[in-house]
Amino acid sequence: MAETYRRKMTAYEEVNWQYNRAADLLGIPDQHKAIMRNCYRELKVQITLHRDDGRLEELYGFRVQHNGSRGPYKGGVRYHPSVDMDEVRALASLMTWKTAVVNIPYGGAKGGVNCDPRSMSENELQTLTRTFTRKIDMALGPYRDIPAPDVNTNAKVMAWMMDEYGRKHGYTPAIVTGKPVNLGGSKGRESATGLGVFFVAQRACRDHGLTLSGARVVIQGFGNVGSWAAKYLNDAGAKVIAIADVDGAVRNDKGLDIPALLAWAKEKRTVAGFPGGDAWAKERIFEVPCELLIPAAMNGVLTDLNVGAVSARLVIEAANNPINPHADHILAERKIPVVPDILANAGGVTVSYFEWTQNLQQFYWDEAEVLKKLEAVMDRAYGEVSEMAKKRGVPLRTAAFMVGIQRVHEAALLRGI
Ligand code: NAD
Repeated sequence: MAETYRRKMTAYEEVNWQYNRAADLLGIPDQHKAIMRNCYRELKVQITLHRDDGRLEELYGFRVQHNGSRGPYKGGVRYHPSVDMDEVRALASLMTWKTAVVNIPYGGAKGGVNCDPRSMSENELQTLTRTFTRKIDMALGPYRDIPAPDVNTNAKVMAWMMDEYGRKHGYTPAIVTGKPVNLGGSKGRESATGLGVFFVAQRACRDHGLTLSGARVVIQGFGNVGSWAAKYLNDAGAKVIAIADVDGAVRNDKGLDIPALLAWAKEKRTVAGFPGGDAWAKERIFEVPCELLIPAAMNGVLTDLNVGAVSARLVIEAANNPINPHADHILAERKIPVVPDILANAGGVTVSYFEWTQNLQQFYWDEAEVLKKLEAVMDRAYGEVSEMAKKRGVPLRTAAFMVGIQRVHEAALLRGI
């Protein structure tokens, strides 16, 4: 076993490693296991982008539809230099299990472009988004595949995608979620992933004998997910003591002033240099002693090489696939529970589902209703996963995979696989 963890796995192999472990415990037949593990459709498209300075750049866009047994494909679009087919497959697969864990009627998908948005103008980003949308158009549709924001994409990017899709197909707000509210977006969508992380953190603290009020929290990532999670945790009395982003980190053991940090980061686009704390090495963020450690940035950040330095009571995976199987195993041996991504960050896709249903009905809900429904879904999902963990004596990650796989398998069987 230890050998398997040590071998360097790709992101998709890591997800499948977790999948296999849970599917074996459920006794899923090998042939069915393979069908559910593999992806249904994979698109790779060439994108030529005319940069503002006259250069012609060649980029690649990806859209992977992993499994659609339970409904239309659903998943975010990521703009990052690291995007490749393997990463997109891994993230698409996680979406299949995630939508099943929260029991919303979707399959799993993911997309992305291997661009560096930090070096791009708004005009270049819009051109790229429209070109990418046109090139994957044949695989999209409000009942086929519905993209959403992910790393380095946001409501504005979704508005461009919706507009480009609409040029050919007519007004179709349900083609993407995470849109601006005045273009058919749902109230509560922007904060939904961070709020879902908060709901799950509350319940996990209760289950593991921790008090959230006064608990020290360390967060990697201060984008959409990390910043909203920080806000809700801070509002509930937790003490956020260190935050890292791609440009640096800041630490204050007395607790960072989160409203002031949010204002700073909005203006400077980074937490680095925030005067309300000391500069800290972003590579050493996981070493800061805390009760709650929340990776909310990229995948593959906690490995066998750095997980030994973690000094937390509980890890909540706000990011997708931040911990590789070897590091996961070490945390389990050290009795540090991990609330897995497919449960912890499912608040985003849950409110995306609410947005889609509102778009299809053309009837909109107020924010209180959205948040109440989100809490109910996260609560039920957390309860079902922790019950499975107790019943089968497995970690929360394996339990979450088991809950998700069981639902997808049942749907596939009902369709006649
Ligand atoms: P984002 O682009 O808004 O923010 C990403 C953050 O990570 C930024 O603060 C960035 O500076 C930081 N970061 C990037 N590289 C880093 C590094 N090497 N070290 C430290 N920080 C680094 O993205 P997001 O939407 O907040 O997504 C974050 C994670 O949450 C991703 O794994 C994403 O897949 C996952 N997620 C997002 C949503 C959503 O609704 N946006 C839903 C579910 C899961």
